Amino acid sequence: MVNVKARSIILVGLVALLFAGAALLFIAFISLIFQPFWITEKSFYHSANGEALVQEIFDAHSAPIEQVSVHFLDVGNADCIFIDAGDIDIIIDGGNDDDGPYIVDYLEGLGTDDIELMIATHPHLDHVGGLDDVLEAFEVKAVIDSGISSSFGIYQDYMRAVEREGCLFLEDRDMKFNLAPGISFRIIETGDNYPNINDNSVVSQLTVGDISFLFTGDMCRNAEVRNLDKFSEVDVLKVAHHGSRSSSCPAFLDKVNPKVAVMTCGPCERCGENHGQNLDTIAELERRGIALYRTDCAGNIVVTTDGSKYWIETSPRP
Ligand SMILES: [Zn+2]
Ligand SMILES: [Zn+2]
Repeated sequence: MVNVKARSIILVGLVALLFAGAALLFIAFISLIFQPFWITEKSFYHSANGEALVQEIFDAHSAPIEQVSVHFLDVGNADCIFIDAGDIDIIIDGGNDDDGPYIVDYLEGLGTDDIELMIATHPHLDHVGGLDDVLEAFEVKAVIDSGISSSFGIYQDYMRAVEREGCLFLEDRDMKFNLAPGISFRIIETGDNYPNINDNSVVSQLTVGDISFLFTGDMCRNAEVRNLDKFSEVDVLKVAHHGSRSSSCPAFLDKVNPKVAVMTCGPCERCGENHGQNLDTIAELERRGIALYRTDCAGNIVVTTDGSKYWIETSPRP
């Protein structure tokens, strides 16, 4: 009798253990499946008074800024723009995944110590690709993102790197930051929830004295036309969506009327590898007499301004 009782207790114990193990496995499985969705929720957004908190980060650097350099890195058909304003550093996008080490080297070569603001214009892989490497290599104080997520692994790498950084994390909306007297950086809210993710790109404008730059991510015609009243004339335009014919519509070009256009695009047609997506835009910019600089032809493009004039240097990517 005793033996039977002991056996049944052991049996019940084993069954309970089996159930507990199965339950644990189930929870682990569910966590794995739903993790991207938890991240998608971006529950760690710091939206309340975010604009004031970012301004505080800039205010910590009160040294006068003599010159501002805007570096358009040659990362192929992808975006990576670095704004070097004295002690203040802003990065807009991080190229493709394998551009990360090159971008980190480039920024280290400029003597970058930390990055005050990172902008991830939208979750496409040619924009967030190398941002995780930048977040690992430098202290980043704040990130502004489109608020649109992706289940792609490379995007999840970026989000996890932001979480590890534990920095201020904001969704884009109209914001204006003063970097120094006469130098400002604006986020231009162009609307959310467009069916085309490119249209959700974070758009921003840098003004240094009389000289201004517009950074457009991959914004397409739809967002351009809906927001015409938010744009004004600029000196330097980052041509949207790598010069694709989906963007840079005539009404938009009329409004921003740039003197210089910078196109971040893949190998030029001379090499026989250009897909021709940007040939219409190139022709239109030329017709308008806008000076065009292309990363596929020129390599890295650096526009430096003292607030009254600007000069442009190019160098092939090593
Ligand atoms: Zn895109
Ligand atoms: Zn793109």
